[in-house]
Amino acid sequence: MKIVQIPLLRDNYGYLIVCDKTKNAAIIDPSEADPVLARIDQEQVPLQAILNTHHHRDHTGGNEGILAKHQAEVYGHKSDSGRIHGLSCGVDEGDEIQIGELKGAVLFIPGHTTGHVAYLFENNLFCGDTLFTAGCGRLFEGTPEQMQSSLKKLMTLPDNTKSLLRPRIHREQSALCHVSRAQKSQTGVALRARARLTHARHLHGAFDDRRGETNQPLSALGQQRNSGPRKGGECDNSSRPGFCFCRR
Ligand SMILES: [Zn+2]
Repeated sequence: MKIVQIPLLRDNYGYLIVCDKTKNAAIIDPSEADPVLARIDQEQVPLQAILNTHHHRDHTGGNEGILAKHQAEVYGHKSDSGRIHGLSCGVDEGDEIQIGELKGAVLFIPGHTTGHVAYLFENNLFCGDTLFTAGCGRLFEGTPEQMQSSLKKLMTLPDNTKSLLRPRIHREQSALCHVSRAQKSQTGVALRARARLTHARHLHGAFDDRRGETNQPLSALGQQRNSGPRKGGECDNSSRPGFCFCRR
């Protein structure tokens, strides 16, 4: 399978996945339409589907514009039929999606929203706003218990699973601090779970940051995290403990 990373909005990505054999394609979480349409034209692939991990606008904002140009099915959790534009294929845990001859699995991972799903194609995990560079997404609708359960589910995936994360560098740099604090907190269950996840399982994928602040695989951040929590002050990212990226 081919994966094309498409910069969207100010600091996001959509992912175009293409079946090697048939060239059928699907776009995952299109925040906006125009860059996606341009890339589809450039790749000259037939768009078969839009895969939304959840209903937030920065994951679905491009649905309408894309559907105006392409006849594509729209996938999302079945409970989000009223919240995802054009949703035609409501899915749930265990469902299978086929793009050309490429088969993917649906994982139901509520927490960030109540209708959040992830898509797993081969060993590539598209997990929306559930997992970021160093942590989980905010709990807009779900409970900490739901998020923890969802993170545990992701931890059961094979070791060679790569998570195609959305960058949000600034947020995640702050989140690294939160992980540190949460590790000391009785209420940071989900954060501790995500810290264990990112530390122990090394679910990562390469990305570059469009503002040029970093251009390195997530594993590099993982290595920085592995140097341990920092006590405070300005971080130089070089000394142990060098966990925190916050300027405070
Ligand atoms: Zn979201």
